[in-house]
Amino acid sequence: MPLVSGLDVIQECTARGLVAGAFNTTNIETTMGIVDAIEKVGVPTFIQVAPTNAALSGFEYIYDMVSRRLAETRVPVALHLDHGKSLGAVEDALAADFTSIMIDASEEPYDENVRISSIAREMTPADLALEAELGSIGGKEDDHGPEVELSTDPSQVEGFVTAVRPDMLAVSVGNVHGYSPTAAIDFDLLAQVRAASSVPLVVHGGSGLPPEQLGRLHEFGVVKVNVASDLRNAMIRAFGEAYAANPQEVSLIRVSTQAVAAISDVVERRIRMLNPSAA
Ligand SMILES: [Zn+2]
Repeated sequence: MPLVSGLDVIQECTARGLVAGAFNTTNIETTMGIVDAIEKVGVPTFIQVAPTNAALSGFEYIYDMVSRRLAETRVPVALHLDHGKSLGAVEDALAADFTSIMIDASEEPYDENVRISSIAREMTPADLALEAELGSIGGKEDDHGPEVELSTDPSQVEGFVTAVRPDMLAVSVGNVHGYSPTAAIDFDLLAQVRAASSVPLVVHGGSGLPPEQLGRLHEFGVVKVNVASDLRNAMIRAFGEAYAANPQEVSLIRVSTQAVAAISDVVERRIRMLNPSAA
């Protein structure tokens, strides 16, 4: 089916008591691996790319690749801009027909975050989803990440949501980008955030969180969990192992196919961890 709006993914997941994985792509192997797993599990999903990773090909190429692979698929999938750090990135992703947008002005002071996020809200058509971030999620996912980690302040949530009107709110509640030994959800803080607003919540840093924590997030109004590092590592590992086994290896198609299978396996396991009752 064609790409759906992020609003449709949120709505269907909420109605079915599911949590959508949001998996970052960079290239065709990653895209194929993600969609293979989605088709197996049947849970509505986000496929996403941050401007740092769209740098290789551009947003239009990502759109073409993802939508072409999804044409034969019956599971609803939205194409999401991850960590749009500027209004220019939002503009570029909308121009490339992305169906879900993140504005990330979380490193700015509160008032500036509200101002920039509100402009992104005005730019984003009402039938597409907008994610904004309050509090700053630490750790580096790939090239960049905030210098400081700042937990979401529950007392700011209601005012921020009222002012910006996001469809989803990314929160910093102990989650960290990438593989961090210190990543752990502070469920007391997450519960306070949940109590402050009914806005669907987003947790970034899904690669570094233990399965038992991922499996509880749906109880706290979390509708979207981002997973990137796990997929990237699966792909790099497949190529690294092939080279280590045979430095004269030249079958790119064989190793690429192995990488797709490894990525698909990671995605499938993460979707099942997020939805233990549906698995
Ligand atoms: Zn993130």
